[in-house]
Amino acid sequence: MDPGYEGDQLLEAAVARGVYFEVADALLVSCYEERHMIEDMHHGLLAMEVSHAMDREELRMSKVALAAAKRIQQVAGGRCACGEQLSPGPQRGVPARFCSRLCVPASERSV
Ligand SMILES: [Zn+2]
Repeated sequence: MDPGYEGDQLLEAAVARGVYFEVADALLVSCYEERHMIEDMHHGLLAMEVSHAMDREELRMSKVALAAAKRIQQVAGGRCACGEQLSPGPQRGVPARFCSRLCVPASERSV
């Protein structure tokens, strides 16, 4: 199962809010299962296939996140409000248009 278009919109929103990693993990687990459960729930070749499918989905989601971060950063001219260059990918706890947690106004902090 693929989270598909709605999942991608959710990922984009998550990148904008600085919660990409949390949302990506939740989507992956809702589509598959916790990684440590794969061996218990499936056997042999099937366990391997499920694990590979999860890897592929994780990679696909990270591409969606990178593209989303790029779009958001282009709108901001590639720089944070403080003048720093924005980092190219999603950072944990940092909305895409800020360079670090320190630059995020308290009203926009989500974690
Ligand atoms: Zn900054």
